[in-house]
Amino acid sequence: MNVFDLDLTESQRMMREACRKFVDDTITPFVLKNWKNEWNMTPEERLPNSILQEADSLGIRTLGVPEEFGGMSLEKEHEVRTFAIISEEIARGDSGLADKLVQNWKVSVLLRAQANKEHQENWFTKLMENPNFLFAHALTEPKGASDRWLGYNALEAAMDTKAKKVDGGWVINGRKHYISNGYDASLYIIYANTNPSVGMMDGTSSFIVPRDTKGFNVARCNETVGCRYMNNGELELIDCFVPDSHLLKSDTALSQAGIYFRPGKIIQAAKNLGVGQAALEKTAEFVQTYSRGGKLLIKHQIVASRLADMATKVSAVRGLVMQAAKAVDQNTADSDALCNMAKVFASEEILKVCQHAMELHGGMGAMLDAGIEKLVRDASIFLHMDATVDISHFKIVKALWPENAGKYAGPE
Ligand SMILES: Cc1cc2nc3c(=O)[nH]c(=O)nc-3n(C[C@H](O)[C@H](O)[C@H](O)COP(=O)(O)OP(=O)(O)OC[C@H]3O[C@@H](n4cnc5c(N)ncnc54)[C@H](O)[C@@H]3O)c2cc1C
Repeated sequence: MNVFDLDLTESQRMMREACRKFVDDTITPFVLKNWKNEWNMTPEERLPNSILQEADSLGIRTLGVPEEFGGMSLEKEHEVRTFAIISEEIARGDSGLADKLVQNWKVSVLLRAQANKEHQENWFTKLMENPNFLFAHALTEPKGASDRWLGYNALEAAMDTKAKKVDGGWVINGRKHYISNGYDASLYIIYANTNPSVGMMDGTSSFIVPRDTKGFNVARCNETVGCRYMNNGELELIDCFVPDSHLLKSDTALSQAGIYFRPGKIIQAAKNLGVGQAALEKTAEFVQTYSRGGKLLIKHQIVASRLADMATKVSAVRGLVMQAAKAVDQNTADSDALCNMAKVFASEEILKVCQHAMELHGGMGAMLDAGIEKLVRDASIFLHMDATVDISHFKIVKALWPENAGKYAGPE
């Protein structure tokens, strides 16, 4: 059930159908039957390779790769909307799997915009050839991520991870944590301070760091409450040397990261929407087949009221996500505010949708093998991805009222 259908192009409709079939035939049955897999403490054993291979055969692991490197041709004027539609569909089956795949799309968009042709050819080819190849984007470090989102330009807000210029390249030292795909990725984009004498918006650079680089180490898998089929990781860089050619963006990497973050927030919000859609579908089916007090649950008005609230919230989130996606596709002036609104709204409203689902399923809602509590866990984790709710509120106000709020999270 998709309460209000979208005005999709023919190719979006076809991709959505193929994805829905993959989810209904493969992902949903896998997740339910193998519910213990999520809790396997050997992260690489959680999700079988066959799932990534099937995703790859549909082209949904490599969206965002330019056609000249073997990627799928997406209509450029609708690209972010297409990302959103596919992200929602995959997450309807499993949010962690969606996370794993969408990270590749997001980093592909960044490499497309900022990497030179040699890097593009090298890394896109490797990504296309190997179904297990994943990208990761590492900004957050133990010192905290909110300062990056707000763009504090004070010296004190500089990253602890530092890159020092040496003959022929850069030596990076530091630590990154909470990184999506951090445990499994083959290629990392690492942000580091390159000029401690200026604010971070002018002194942070980004680097292309392959996993097998000497001095780069995946320290551990961060065990998370939800999205557990995406292995989040902690990274350490100890005297990690990369050649000059691996400098992706010099000094202004943070000021220019919007190219990554705007589509990224839409893709992630749509992913949470997919979790809400799954909660709505499962609950609608349950209340129409399960009776108490001599009648189907849906015929009890309090139940109907909760179900209506779920359907309304899911539709409202979808409407805002698509409006924001269109704004990013068209690069309109309000795209910054809208993509932060979509992120916040999708995180808070979908969590409430999943809470309703848990309530309406009774005790079953709390059982690990029923798959309902998983939706609450998967939705809850999104509160803290791509900036917290509070920080996103700051960003909305900064974008809407720049005269008085534009700099309040930074020097006046
Ligand atoms: C599942 C998951 C996946 C993630 N994936 C990635 C990834 O791929 N790459 C990456 O780089 N990061 C990733 N992150 C990190 C994520 O972006 C950060 O966790 C998030 O932005 C919050 O940053 P923090 O954890 O450092 O909290 P902090 O910045 O330390 O914030 C702690 C608290 O203080 C509040 N706060 C901070 N500053 C202010 C202020 N000025 N005013 C008011 N309140 C404030 C925050 O809202 C929050 O409540 C991921 C996180 C999760 C949970």
